[in-house]
Amino acid sequence: GAQHILVTGGAGYIGSHTCKALAAAGYIPVTYDSLVRGNRWAVKWGPLEEGDLLDGERLREVMRAYGPVGVIHFAAFAYVGESMHDPLLYYRNNVAGTVSLLEAMAAERVGRLVFSSTCATYGVPPGNPIREDMPQAPINPYGQSKLMIEQVLKDCAATGTLAAVALRYFNAAGADPAGEIGEAHHPETHLIPLALAAAKGEAEPLTIFGDDQPTPDGTCIRDYIHVTDLADAHVRALGHTATNAGFAAFNLGTGKGASILDIIAATQRVTGRRVPHGYGPPRAGDPAELVADPSRAKAVLGWEARHSDLDTILSTAWNWMQRA
Ligand code: UDP
Repeated sequence: GAQHILVTGGAGYIGSHTCKALAAAGYIPVTYDSLVRGNRWAVKWGPLEEGDLLDGERLREVMRAYGPVGVIHFAAFAYVGESMHDPLLYYRNNVAGTVSLLEAMAAERVGRLVFSSTCATYGVPPGNPIREDMPQAPINPYGQSKLMIEQVLKDCAATGTLAAVALRYFNAAGADPAGEIGEAHHPETHLIPLALAAAKGEAEPLTIFGDDQPTPDGTCIRDYIHVTDLADAHVRALGHTATNAGFAAFNLGTGKGASILDIIAATQRVTGRRVPHGYGPPRAGDPAELVADPSRAKAVLGWEARHSDLDTILSTAWNWMQRA
C-alpha cells in the first residue's frame, strides 16, 4: 500500500501545498495540526489529526495509528515581528515543540525527518547569494529558534537514529496553480498578499518598510520562491532521507533577488491595477538583502525553481485571492 507521511502543520500555507505534492507522488499525507494558525479547509489530500506538538502522547497515538515512514515538520510560528515582541512563544512552540516531536519519533521508531528552516538563520549574511556553509547568526528570535532546531537535528542525526534534512526557505510566495489552495495568514503580514489586497482596494495602502536600505533602489531585496517549487523540494528531500543518514541542509530560492519596488511593479503589471503605497520606517529584525545560492539543492536533490518568475508568483496568488 501507499506509504504514510506525517505532516505537522499540514493545514498551513507551505504544508498544504506539500500535502498536494505528496499525494501526487503516491504518498498519503497525514496532517497533524493544532489549527491555531492552520486552516481546516486546506487539508484536502489525506486525513487531519488535530493535536498540539507539545502533546507527546497524542503524537505517539497518531504515529501508531498510521505507521508513517517519515515526518515533514512545518508546524511552527513564523512571524519575525511577533518573535521580537514575544520570544518565549517562539522558543516554546518552535524549539520545545520540535523536541517533543523528536521524542515521539524516537519512541515510535520513526527515523526520517524533513524540517522547515529559513534564510532567517543567516541573519545579516557576509554577502549574497548565500551558500549553506556561510555563518548562521540570526538577528531575531524566529530565526534563532529555527537555528536551535537545526542544532538539535544535527545532534540527533549524529547518534545514527535520525536522518534529517533542513530546508532553508527564502521568501515563500504564490499559490497552487490549479487554485485549490493558497496563502491565508491571520493576520496577514507578508508583502505579496498585502500588495495584492491593496491593488484590489481591500486593504490600506502598502507601507514599504524603509527607503534607505543599502540596495540600488533603497528597498529590501528578497528571493521569492513559489510555494509549488517548495512543495516539490520536500518530496525530493523526503526521498533523500530514505537513502542518506545524517543531517543535510539546503537553501531553497531562485538565486535572483527582487526589491519591494520590483514586487509593486510586478503586482501592477499582473493585476492591471495600481498598488497604493507609501514609506515607513524599516522593520526591526529585517536584513537589507537575502538571496539564495540554490546550487546545492540542484546538485544533490535535482531540484530547481520552475514556477518562481515574479509573473507566475503574482498571477497564481492573484488568482487565489480573486476566488477567496
Ligand atoms: N515588507 C514591507 N511592507 C509590508 C510587509 C513586508 O515593506 O507591509 C517588506 C519586508 O520588510 C521585507 C519584505 O517586504 O523586506 C518581505 O517581507 P515578508 O514579511 O513578506 O517576508 P519575510 O522576509 O519577513 O519572511
